[in-house]
Amino acid sequence: MQKILNYINGELIEPKSGNYLDNYNPAEGKVYSQVPDSDGFDVHHATVAARKAFGAWSSMPVSQRSSILQKIAALIDRDLEKLVRAESVDNGKPLKQARALDIPRASANIRFFATAVLHTESESHMTDTVALNYTTRSPIGVVGCISPWNLPLYLFTWKITVVAKPSELTPMTAFLFSQLCIEAGLPPGVLNVVHGLGSKAGQAIIEHPEVTAISFTGGTATGKKITVTAARMLKRLSLELGGKNPNIIFADCDFKQAVASAIESSFSNQGEICLCGSRILVERSLYARFTEEFVKATRELKVGDPLEESTSVGALVSEGHMNKVLSYIELAKQEGGNLLIGGRRVATAGRCADGYFVEPTVISGLNQACRTNQEEIFGPVVTIMPFDTEEEAVALANSTIYGLSATLWTENLKRAHRVSHQLKSGIVWVNCWLFRDLRTPFGGMKQSGVGREGGWEALRFFTEAKNICIKL
Ligand code: NDP
Repeated sequence: MQKILNYINGELIEPKSGNYLDNYNPAEGKVYSQVPDSDGFDVHHATVAARKAFGAWSSMPVSQRSSILQKIAALIDRDLEKLVRAESVDNGKPLKQARALDIPRASANIRFFATAVLHTESESHMTDTVALNYTTRSPIGVVGCISPWNLPLYLFTWKITVVAKPSELTPMTAFLFSQLCIEAGLPPGVLNVVHGLGSKAGQAIIEHPEVTAISFTGGTATGKKITVTAARMLKRLSLELGGKNPNIIFADCDFKQAVASAIESSFSNQGEICLCGSRILVERSLYARFTEEFVKATRELKVGDPLEESTSVGALVSEGHMNKVLSYIELAKQEGGNLLIGGRRVATAGRCADGYFVEPTVISGLNQACRTNQEEIFGPVVTIMPFDTEEEAVALANSTIYGLSATLWTENLKRAHRVSHQLKSGIVWVNCWLFRDLRTPFGGMKQSGVGREGGWEALRFFTEAKNICIKL
């Protein structure tokens, strides 16, 4: 059985304790590899390596750093199919999803920052004719990066700085990525990947005194826990957390596009994308027609073996997560919801008979205040509700603790601007979904996060500003 290794100080090594965790193929419900169960010792080893590498790496000419990163991006492109397959097996997502989104966006991310650093500027301010101020930005130091299992390699590449822990549920592509970093000539210690449990390896990264900043993507409850430790140690923090995103459909929308995109935003990656629109709000005059077409299109989705090219919805990431999603469907029924389609575990034949598949599920008849409409389910489950006025749509959209993304469908330009401004979300998509320009800020309002990633926002987070004032 394949053993995944930690990547510390440029080498692929076993955890000091020799302990491993089982890594499951969720489409088969079977263990298929072993992942290090790292602890504080491994984290310390990685942090010391990072600290040692920091001086030489941060003072290396930017053109050289850029060219190493570009080499890594090129190697991801070269190994596209290998990484696509690894991501699909590890996470349960369909091959075509990993090929269209996860892996190309991972290399695009790295390429973006590799070239962005070639074009940085620094501010300067003349104070009358008396003094010149100029501001420099230098790398902040060793950053601890923790990423989740839903878009494993893609979200991992947002965060590469020095000591990173991917989710132990989906460690494979971070491991393959470590091999590419070695091949690309990344100096030892610049990136260290320590695999293992959040409560052990993750917590050790957060608590390590040499880790000066933490970049975390994951659930809101974990984000709050991490904040307590970071606050006590005065660490800089970037949090990308959960969502309960509204998808608002006005009667004047482009109907065909709105239905097709709602299918994508509801069920892509089995609904396991923090940006999925899990609450569909439809203007009442369109509600019956939209619901009928949406349910019809949902019925056409093929759920099953992620390695088959025709599959649109694969397996959920783990048995525990599948049970959580199924328990929310039960809760929705208790809260008075009508299941318009779906609601059950999918029984497949053959290789995937024990896999963690759940039918795409659409629920109507719930009010906004119920738990099903307030809590993040993070699976192929959406609710659908009517609204009468623009004000009501905005109020419904804003009425959760989350504020990550919102989608809105209308052909009325004034309404598009008006509603976008009123939505309390870090990202608003009008007549599209998941359309991403890497230069734009990414992150959530309210309990969906603190800070922003993407573009210059990311470069600001990972650097420290210093103002130098010279009296003339
Ligand atoms: P979790 O919060 O459970 O875990 C995220 C990561 O944190 C994992 O690597 C986990 O390890 C680790 N972790 C857990 N506890 C600690 C701790 N005490 N200290 C340090 N690290 C810890 O989230 P999931 O992995 O379940 O991911 C799904 C969640 O992520 C959803 O809520 C989703 O909305 C959110 N998300 C947000 C995104 C955004 O950009 N806003 C993007 C993608 C997902 P372990 O797996 O061992 O628990």
